[in-house]
Amino acid sequence: MAQRGISILKGIEAQTVIDLLNKAYCDEWLAYYQYFSEARVIKGLMKDAVVAELNLHGADELRHATLISNRIIQLGGTPILHPSQWLTHSNCGYDAPTNFDVRAILEQAVKGEQCAISTYSSLAEQLRDKDIVTYDLVSQILADEVEHEEDLQSLFDDIDDFIAQFKA
Ligand code: FE
Ligand code: FE
Ligand code: MG
Repeated sequence: MAQRGISILKGIEAQTVIDLLNKAYCDEWLAYYQYFSEARVIKGLMKDAVVAELNLHGADELRHATLISNRIIQLGGTPILHPSQWLTHSNCGYDAPTNFDVRAILEQAVKGEQCAISTYSSLAEQLRDKDIVTYDLVSQILADEVEHEEDLQSLFDDIDDFIAQFKA
């Protein structure tokens, strides 16, 4: 285990950071799988544009899981290794798609991103001035989640405006 790298933590135990990161790690796998599922079942107007975005976001969530697991290992921990624990340890849980309409899927995905933003914003608060390296990592991920919410919300608004034209 890399001693000096861990010794720079100030006022927080490595194990506390590992536990916080493991919860976020579970969120990322579930977010990845949620995008994967949504991209399979989605139906309706501008579906192809939405699927392209869902796939890009899914790839980002998997990249986040990779970054987080690397940091867990750097801190001397082990990422959660069994999928049965993902739901138990996650902050945001998993919302199986039930309504497959593009707008319902987008609304559900926006909610997921909003939960991710709250999670990483809270993590950044807890780690600021205590673990600079993890703080930097969660800040980068937070910026991605903010972008994700905006991308999905603007797609939702475009589709909603388009449909409204025909109702006017
Ligand atoms: Fe993510
Ligand atoms: Fe995201
Ligand atoms: Mg995007």
